[in-house]
Amino acid sequence: MRGAVLYGPRDVRFEEREVPKIINPTDAVIRISSACVCGSDLWPYRGIQPIAQPTPMGHEYCGIVEEVGSAVQSVKRGQFVIGSFFASDNVCPTCRIGYQSSCQHRELVGGAQAPVLRVPLADGTLVATPDLPSEDLIPSLLTLSDVMGTGWFAADAANVKPGSTVAVVGDGAVGLLGILSAKQMGAARIIAMSRHASRQKLAREFGATDIVTERGDEGVARIKELTNGIGADSVLEYVGTQESMMQAITSTRPGGHVGSELLTCPL
Ligand SMILES: [Zn+2]
Ligand SMILES: [Zn+2]
Repeated sequence: MRGAVLYGPRDVRFEEREVPKIINPTDAVIRISSACVCGSDLWPYRGIQPIAQPTPMGHEYCGIVEEVGSAVQSVKRGQFVIGSFFASDNVCPTCRIGYQSSCQHRELVGGAQAPVLRVPLADGTLVATPDLPSEDLIPSLLTLSDVMGTGWFAADAANVKPGSTVAVVGDGAVGLLGILSAKQMGAARIIAMSRHASRQKLAREFGATDIVTERGDEGVARIKELTNGIGADSVLEYVGTQESMMQAITSTRPGGHVGSELLTCPL
């Protein structure tokens, strides 16, 4: 089979690779239906994060189970599954409190930009859909492999509750899905911090009630203005710089919560 391999800055090759096989009894091998490029793939691609050796790319994936190891119980051959970028056992103490991305036995999944992928710890990592989804549903299901899960995680960590006021710092893919998550969790008011017209439009579609274009101190002042001088109950931070984290913290009301994607990000 052929797959994408990163050799160094701006050097991605689509080349012959060995077809993955079951190695451990807890593995599954899946045929990829869809995979995508993550924002975090761009760090080594741009040379900001060095890589030691040629690295198969892709950690966001969904597909059909082809084979499972002898210990796998929760998924079976022929099922459509979505997997996380960190393989996790889902039974260790860290998984049990809901931090599967920090599982004590976690393994980073890689090499999904290829037709076939080996997924370790398949019972804890893969989730099967009840039926085979239609083609048009697959791109949406693919988001659950990383961006939607990451967006949801920060909203959950920031304690978003029905009726709460939420501010979202960052309007990239994960930030926009953070807005969608907050909406699903029942937030009454969602303030999106965004400067791009096309993303503001999506933000509103996903549930944003207000848009703030200012950044830094001015952005914080605008959020205070919109929340009777108090700040938001929950602030979701999806940029990952010190400046954006400070903006998130100072936009939060006393006793409020900040959730950050950095707690779950793979790189
Ligand atoms: Zn990703
Ligand atoms: Zn675990």
